[in-house]
Amino acid sequence: MLASLLCWLLARRGTTLAGQHRLALLWAALTIPACAVLVTPHSEPALLILFVLPLIYYLLLPLRFAWAVGCGAACSLATLAGYVAVTPPSQADLGVALGVVTVNVVLALALVGANRAHRQEWAALASERAARQELAEHREMLNQLLLAVPAPLLILALPEGSLIRANRAAFDYFGPAAGGSGTVEGALARRDLTRLAALLRRHGHVTGFETHLALADGQRRDVLLDVTVAPLGQRRAALAVVVDITERKRMERTLQRLALTDPLTGLANRTRFFAAAAAEIRRSRRYGHPLAVVMIDIDFFKRINDGFGHDAGDRALRGFAGLCRALVRDQDLAARIGGEEFALLLPETAPPDALALAERLRAATEAGQGLDGLPPMTVSLGLSSLRPGETAIDPALSRADQALYQAKRGGRNRVVCADPPRPERSQA
Ligand code: GH3
Ligand code: MG
Ligand code: MG
Repeated sequence: MLASLLCWLLARRGTTLAGQHRLALLWAALTIPACAVLVTPHSEPALLILFVLPLIYYLLLPLRFAWAVGCGAACSLATLAGYVAVTPPSQADLGVALGVVTVNVVLALALVGANRAHRQEWAALASERAARQELAEHREMLNQLLLAVPAPLLILALPEGSLIRANRAAFDYFGPAAGGSGTVEGALARRDLTRLAALLRRHGHVTGFETHLALADGQRRDVLLDVTVAPLGQRRAALAVVVDITERKRMERTLQRLALTDPLTGLANRTRFFAAAAAEIRRSRRYGHPLAVVMIDIDFFKRINDGFGHDAGDRALRGFAGLCRALVRDQDLAARIGGEEFALLLPETAPPDALALAERLRAATEAGQGLDGLPPMTVSLGLSSLRPGETAIDPALSRADQALYQAKRGGRNRVVCADPPRPERSQA
């Protein structure tokens, strides 16, 4: 009992695994001789102790396998010796000795079984711990990857669309609002959101979905969305990557504008004029609206260049372009289609109105209206209208060109209409 008390006190001070092992050995070394003495009365309780005590050393002491077997066997030997030592040898002692051997064999086998079970349990625990650690490492790696993606990336729960995760780039892009739910839906136009949802339902992923977002600070940004639907644990989630293409779109618009604009005057160029004419013809034919074209050529322009210099000629071209812009309506299109040749596309304009406009332009040019500081100049104009059955602008343009030629031959500074005079009744 004293040995137990001593070892218990030492164990309470907290020792390592090896220290505990040493302590258990010390306890065994102290108690085994004491037990040998304990059984010397050769009584029935002593016999019971002889068979039961080794159990403690085999199965309960925290000892390594070999030491546990050693201590259990030592306990049995010592107690057997104590039990038989003081009395004369008898045949019963042989039976007791055989019983003790049997008990030792059984306990050793039980220890082997328990050890195996422990080892299996330990291996299972170790592999579970390793799996957990691997999982944690993977999760951390995924997290780092998510954070490191340079484009805004959002993970949204489906179908409600609430935000599960967003990376740093998303917070930078959307601002603190990225943390709230409904970042993308809030910013997307409803029509686009419906279209996107339909595509996702059908294909499970959408790439290069071009749309625009209204950010929390009121900015409108052009974006491409790549969205994939994927299972996330028990739920379904949408992984959305946002690629901002605002600058690219702005550049595209600039390039498109430049490609369709005359650089000297800022008016539409020939390409844009013909594209607009084709579109207007379709509208005109569908709704039965009139469409007029006017061809304009500056008179004796070469003389302006020769007399005042090429720069003055350029300024005159710009001045006349400004006059065209000022006189035509919003839906009309004024274009520079050649050196000093211009054209007007006049949708929903009947010949008399087109004639009136052409005349106003001629008179304003002659009067130098808004052309201060420029050499005096005049223009000749020919006009024509789209005729029933015409599906292209070329015939009308060619008639307007003929009319312009007539105006030139007729003495310049005049308007000639290529269309036949209207019947008496409708003129009235
Ligand atoms: P007409 O009354 O018969 O039209 O005589 P015109 O002198 O206007 O006709 P012509 O076609 O012989 O001359 C057009 C001139 O316009 C020739 C060319 O040097 C000039 N020109 C064409 N493009 C430009 C330009 O961008 N800038 C300047 N300054 N001159 C131009
Ligand atoms: Mg000309
Ligand atoms: Mg000319």
